[in-house]
Amino acid sequence: MTHPAQPKASHFINGAYVEDTAGTPIPVIYAATGEQIATVYAATPAIVEKALSTAKEAQKAWGKMTGTERGRILRRAADIMRERNHELSVLETYDTGKPLQETLVADATSGADALEYFGGLAGSLTGEHIPMGRDWVYTVREALGLCVGIGAWNYPTQIACWKGAPALACGNSMVFKPSETTPLCALKVAEILHEAGLPAGLYNVIQGMGDVGAALVTDPRVDKVSLTGSVPTGKKVYAAAAAGMKHVTMELGGKSPLIIFDDADVENAVGGAINGNFYSSGQVCSNGTRVFVQKGIKEKFLARLAERTGAAVLGDPQDEATNFGPMVTENQMNIVLGYIEKGKEEGARLICGGKRADMDGFFVEPTVFADVTDDMTIAREEIFGPVMSVLDFDTEEEVIARANDTEFGLSAGVFTNDFSRAHRVIAQLEAGSCFINSYNDAPVEAPFGGVKASGVGRENSKEAIKHFSQVKSVYVRMGDVEAAF
Ligand code: NDP
Repeated sequence: MTHPAQPKASHFINGAYVEDTAGTPIPVIYAATGEQIATVYAATPAIVEKALSTAKEAQKAWGKMTGTERGRILRRAADIMRERNHELSVLETYDTGKPLQETLVADATSGADALEYFGGLAGSLTGEHIPMGRDWVYTVREALGLCVGIGAWNYPTQIACWKGAPALACGNSMVFKPSETTPLCALKVAEILHEAGLPAGLYNVIQGMGDVGAALVTDPRVDKVSLTGSVPTGKKVYAAAAAGMKHVTMELGGKSPLIIFDDADVENAVGGAINGNFYSSGQVCSNGTRVFVQKGIKEKFLARLAERTGAAVLGDPQDEATNFGPMVTENQMNIVLGYIEKGKEEGARLICGGKRADMDGFFVEPTVFADVTDDMTIAREEIFGPVMSVLDFDTEEEVIARANDTEFGLSAGVFTNDFSRAHRVIAQLEAGSCFINSYNDAPVEAPFGGVKASGVGRENSKEAIKHFSQVKSVYVRMGDVEAAF
């Protein structure tokens, strides 16, 4: 019998599901059991061509509609997503293995927020009037044209919406390629957008591996590329886009610092460290995986952290009582287990976890290492799994320097009850998305993105509008034209 997660077809182009079984088959494996639940086929060159040509053509009329008309469709799509939240969350759990307890509140809901927020903004995207004496300049905020979105595997619904909603609000069309690991959810986003009244061809989803992504990025008809992925892929995609002088948004990886001063509220700091390391089993780009704890609070912090981490409920992700799921793939599990071994070999002190969980599926226990030093592999490389490194520090000056000593710059957090210190420290941290006495909140109203190797551009908020539109300026002369001859 066909599994309920099996989509009607692999791709969604020009307002309809499309299949082409000549493409390489991509098995969809449920991470909690290891069983194959669906198959999709990578896009063939014919599918890539169909998606790009359709999106290019459809954008012309969409770009000419009023923002209010475009916004109405996005807001209707947001309502449909909310009505179907349960069904979409179950699918997100099949796609990623993340527990339903999480997906019910963090995925389709976050996607709906983006559709609603950018739908609401669409009607107010205007230019400026700039007086020049008798003359004046006016500016017009225009669509970029055809945008390509390429997603990572950790938030397939959210990424499809975070890229699609601002792109469409600004009058662009989109071809979206999900990660081959999680191909299911973006198809539902496309289906819902069209059900809400989106004209055919404006939001297309095609499957495939990196080569399909590369074909999209290098196509001369594409005006913008927005990627969520790792730093190495980001460097390749950025370079390929630069060759065609395309706009880019790069949302890449991190090794973010979470700094806990000894005056912090211990329970809140432990809660922040748990949210910033174990949500989605640690598969979150902005995670605060280097937890710097001031020496005065260290033992208290570690004791409560171990206690609370011990309460994680591993199990069937479709059971709402489960709050900790498997790694997305067997390969990712092995990568994470490799890092745990490195941590042990290099002398970090294991506080809890530290191995594969004794159950079906690709589960790794939530793991905490203490006495981690800056040069250890687990403190330098992005693990993308549930492995927290706790490092000691003495002074504010010292911890700022150590926190910034990384190629990454996505996020940073500070826990302290001294608010002047909190702002002073945050001001000196090299990171794009920061938190004070909290960690990993990502509301659509706030800009999200990194500095240094963690990326360029911002998603969400009004900032995203700047990255999905361009400004035309028009000088208007009221008098005669003076010329030298
Ligand atoms: P990858 O960088 O491996 O892949 C990202 C996407 O790019 C996938 O869809 C992939 O396809 C595609 N791709 C790979 N090579 C190319 C290429 N040459 N040209 C165009 N597209 C290509 O990341 P993962 O999927 O493994 O995701 C994990 C990474 O994503 C982590 O490092 C994490 O930090 C980062 N991330 C960043 C976020 C942020 O907002 N800053 C959010 C979430 C994750 P395929 O996988 O099918 O081969």
